[in-house]
Amino acid sequence: MKSYRKELWFEIPTRRGFVNITRQVEDCVRASGVREGLALVNAMHITASVFINDDESGLHQDFERWLEGLAPHEPISVYLHNRTGEDNADAHLKRTIMGREVVVAITNGRLDFGPWEQIFYGEFDGRRRKRVLVKVIGE
Ligand code: ZN
Repeated sequence: MKSYRKELWFEIPTRRGFVNITRQVEDCVRASGVREGLALVNAMHITASVFINDDESGLHQDFERWLEGLAPHEPISVYLHNRTGEDNADAHLKRTIMGREVVVAITNGRLDFGPWEQIFYGEFDGRRRKRVLVKVIGE
């Protein structure tokens, strides 16, 4: 069995943002030489997500509004976690609902997606360097 590991680094200049990382994951699959297998892609931080959805106009703003409705960043004082002196309780909650990781099948050397599926990095407490792990296994 072949195995390949890579860390992708991101530094989002704003508190929140979404980045399409499909191309970078495809590069990992190519570099792995795996033709049949699985690719795991996970955020290595508890205030960031990796998820699959469409790269459609307006959708990321809709995610942003939906998440702010569920867990607004402010007022910071409503969160018990922020009594530690942090201000990112909302980011922990947003990460939980958007998910930690995705697993995508690799068939014939390519990510085996549905018609509109793409992989995104979701940042909820940015302005610092953070990592995504890509692990590819197979033959
Ligand atoms: Zn925290």
